[in-house]
Amino acid sequence: MTELRVAIPADITAWLNKVSAGGFGSVNVIASGEQTFEVFDPGAASRLANLPVSSKTSVEQAISRARKSFESGIWSKTSPDDREKVLLALAALVERDFDFLSNLEALDTGKPLAEAMLDIQEVATVIRYYAGWANKVSGQTIATAINLSAMTVRGPVGVCAAITPWNYPLPILIYKLAPALAFGNSFVAKPSELAPLSAIYFVGLCAEAGVPDGVVNLLLGAGQTGSDLVSSSGLDKIAFTGSSRTGQAIMAAASKNTTKVTLELGGKSPQLVFASCDIDKAVAGVAMGIWTNAGQVCVAGSRLIIEKSIKEEFLNRLIKVGEDYFVGHSLDARSSMGPIISATQLDKITSALDGAKKDGAVLHLLGKSSELPGHFLNPIIVEGLATSHSMHQEEIFGPVLTVSSIESESEAIAIANSTRYGLAAGVWTGKAGQAQRVAREIDAGTVWVNTYGAFHPTLPFGGTKSSGFGRELGESAVDGYTELKTIVEDISKAEEN
Ligand code: NAD
Repeated sequence: MTELRVAIPADITAWLNKVSAGGFGSVNVIASGEQTFEVFDPGAASRLANLPVSSKTSVEQAISRARKSFESGIWSKTSPDDREKVLLALAALVERDFDFLSNLEALDTGKPLAEAMLDIQEVATVIRYYAGWANKVSGQTIATAINLSAMTVRGPVGVCAAITPWNYPLPILIYKLAPALAFGNSFVAKPSELAPLSAIYFVGLCAEAGVPDGVVNLLLGAGQTGSDLVSSSGLDKIAFTGSSRTGQAIMAAASKNTTKVTLELGGKSPQLVFASCDIDKAVAGVAMGIWTNAGQVCVAGSRLIIEKSIKEEFLNRLIKVGEDYFVGHSLDARSSMGPIISATQLDKITSALDGAKKDGAVLHLLGKSSELPGHFLNPIIVEGLATSHSMHQEEIFGPVLTVSSIESESEAIAIANSTRYGLAAGVWTGKAGQAQRVAREIDAGTVWVNTYGAFHPTLPFGGTKSSGFGRELGESAVDGYTELKTIVEDISKAEEN
């Protein structure tokens, strides 16, 4: 077994020790109870922290703090200009602690430090974007019956809850928290038990930036804590990002209290590559689309659908790119890909691959991996299965790309739309008309043309079919985190007599 060749920064080790001893440094963490859970570095299979699970009592306490803060008006009725100032201060604190947060996120998720740095930069950018929205949301005056004056106004929704996954822990939390705060809501968050550390640190920054006590509340723990939260009648909205299976359970729980829900769920996104494409650009885009974050990405471009005439050349080039990958620890500068998040998830992927082999698939296992005891899996390309096979149909959440070849545009579209998911897609073509035709026919929330995975705070993001509903980011969050009220007044003279 090889020794870990990287040093965990001393300030992170000190913070992890403090947190494991119960010193969260912020009143915003609500977690007391008998049980604890361990958080691991998936690149070394070593323990990073031991944390308390938020019991049902903690969940109720967090919701009650949020409700009290909301009703007191301490945040919900402050001027939008003041909320903007606090959010700008929060973004500045994220940038002040950029190195700390990036290293913490890399260690907790296993992703290479360079990827974690992009995530933390995105967090600051999204907070700043929604800071700008705080004082730009207004209603309309609306023409109606002759003696009536009508207008709409927007106010906060109330107490909003977020349940988030482990793969982009802080960005996905911020897609929800930043607009919620901008528009005056109070908030209860439950990050994934697999990577909760950046959220713990972040809620401390919220207090430092001036978000009043009780407005942001953080719960710790796994599915039971999440389930206690979404079963409560004390919430006005639940925003969930995670697997389709958990999304269904959350929707069922929310329906009992008629709580509003938005769901950002799994995907099985196709990459459609046509013969007219810029092949160098397409190879790089397909590789990045499936091997970023070891394929543990909701929009992972996990199905290559390629025109037969260029398949052989394309695959040869893609295999060369895959061969250059080094799969290792997040803080090892050689790593271009990190580990799978847990031993359980690695087992699930390897048993799916064993099943595919039994069914006649040809597997290309690429790159080199570290000898550390992390949960590593190399980049993999799978050929030779019918498109109805589960390998083509179900989310693997690993660095595994399936291949199918096509001979026409309509065949490519039919295969692209043949799964139950509809989150994203890539189209690679040199023909402008084909780009637009295909993009319009694909059933997905986002279609990238001659690029892949481009996110920006201004761009609405979400899915169709089993990938969920509702949109985050961009102007869509105004509908997500404000309530629209219609005010109608009788302005006839008779009314004044
Ligand atoms: P997961 O569904 O296992 O867990 C997500 C969160 O739900 C965690 O915080 C977990 O503790 C909580 N949870 C589990 N059971 C619960 C229950 N019964 N009630 C309430 N909460 C519960 O997902 P994961 O493994 O953390 O993340 C991977 C999944 O997330 C993949 O399917 C991926 O595609 C999806 N994802 C989607 C998007 C998107 O924007 N569409 C983004 C990232 C990840």
